[in-house]
Amino acid sequence: MSYVFLGAPGVGKGTYAQLLSKKYNVPHISTGDLLREEVKKESSVGLKAKAYMDKGELVPDEVITYILKKRFKKKDCKNGFFLDGFPRNIKQAEELEKIAKIKKVIHFMADDAVIIHRITQRITCRNCGEIYHLVEKRPKVEGKCDLCSGELHQREDQKEDIVKKRLDVYRKETAPLIDYYKGKGMLFEITINEPIAQIKDWFLKKMDEVIIF
Ligand code: AMP
Repeated sequence: MSYVFLGAPGVGKGTYAQLLSKKYNVPHISTGDLLREEVKKESSVGLKAKAYMDKGELVPDEVITYILKKRFKKKDCKNGFFLDGFPRNIKQAEELEKIAKIKKVIHFMADDAVIIHRITQRITCRNCGEIYHLVEKRPKVEGKCDLCSGELHQREDQKEDIVKKRLDVYRKETAPLIDYYKGKGMLFEITINEPIAQIKDWFLKKMDEVIIF
């Protein structure tokens, strides 16, 4: 049984998925992370994707679908997964139906001001990709990753003008999926404006209403 996490960039999907992945012991698959790994490896797919990612645009459907299909074949997916960042448009949603069985789509929502604050204050480890927040999740040592001591930096796509572009792309291309999945009776919606540390117990209990493994 698998679940899709839908929501604007910066809404916190990745953080929620990590929490749930630990609790239910199924992998968190983030297509953004998969692409960033390819970029880091400088693979041909990664080099192709980088130009789109730096501009805040979607990479071509066939590129991301190819990467995802490969990921689904790994053993850890056998009991299901939490999919974060895919589908991003209706074409990808139709593709997903052919390659996976999705139980529910969880739509995470937050106010625009909260989203911009969350995403533009983020810093990321150059080495392992762990994400910090200058207000809500500061590293123990400034500029260094708690996990691997890697250097922290602001990614190109975390800068304000690119964030705005990503939000535009989300509204135009991805938001239509909300009605698409509503129509199929698959959508569960939840709004979170507070830092997760303040509402973690409430959140996990709420997710128990939807997630069954
Ligand atoms: P994310 O970390 O999910 O916000 O993804 C970062 C970037 O990777 C996005 O801005 C896109 O350029 C690209 N990306 C991630 N997932 C997809 C997808 N499903 N389709 C197309 N591009 C994607």
